[in-house]
Amino acid sequence: MDYYSPLARATRIAIYVLAVTVPVVIALAVVGTTPYLLDKVPERHRDTVAAIGEGAVRLSGGNGGIFRAGDARAVDTTIPGAPVPLRGEWSPRRPEDFPPPAGLVEGVDYAVETTDDGYLAHWPCEQEIPVRSFDGPPGSETDLAWAVDTLAFSSGLPLRYTGPGAPGEKEAEGAISVTYGDHPDFHGTDVAGVGGVAIWPRGLVLQGSVTLRREHISPLAGDAWTRSLTLHELMHALGVTHAVPYGPEVMAERPGHQPQVLLGYGDRFALHMVGCH
Ligand SMILES: [Zn+2]
Repeated sequence: MDYYSPLARATRIAIYVLAVTVPVVIALAVVGTTPYLLDKVPERHRDTVAAIGEGAVRLSGGNGGIFRAGDARAVDTTIPGAPVPLRGEWSPRRPEDFPPPAGLVEGVDYAVETTDDGYLAHWPCEQEIPVRSFDGPPGSETDLAWAVDTLAFSSGLPLRYTGPGAPGEKEAEGAISVTYGDHPDFHGTDVAGVGGVAIWPRGLVLQGSVTLRREHISPLAGDAWTRSLTLHELMHALGVTHAVPYGPEVMAERPGHQPQVLLGYGDRFALHMVGCH
């Protein structure tokens, strides 16, 4: 099939315009010190989450945690006299600490996930974030690797495409899964993909998830729509939400006539907010 024949092109554009990509926050856990909600936190993270809820302190990784072993300290910047965080370590962020540069308007050119109590959702910077694919169709790997590299470069987040994941790794902590297949939001809709983050108290992100509808993935690497869709959903998995419809951003709520493959000015600022530069 010739992807560039006018007929095929029109079909693809129709799908494109109708495609609604929605962010899905796969878990919004506002737990803090509430015992009932804390029950919902995986046991191995309860200490960490409780500590964050108390305002304090030590995010230890030790064995298997996503934070590095030892005395890594997450510093609560709201506590007077607290130590200055080491560069790159996780600490809570407030969106108001990221005033947009001239010409960019929050909610128009860019938007990011925030918790109900006003913290930015963001990943830690210290440990590699593997991005694993599941059921990737032939030809999809090149574009996924391209998208991951693009976002790693632009955000400074330690993202790395590590290839197909094992079945048990789909819900892995500290990682992003990209599944090519079905999702309930695809049923009876034109949704082309979903992506989201699991957000812990104060905006800590430990898990990201993307599902891409297989019929929107070209078997030919480099397809603009495949790349745009993959970038868009992966950005949801980094905590970025929608810019206005039809705007010149990958994160536009509705895409314009041409698939946006290059990151826009608003996209790049959002990646700065959730990133590690
Ligand atoms: Zn979206």
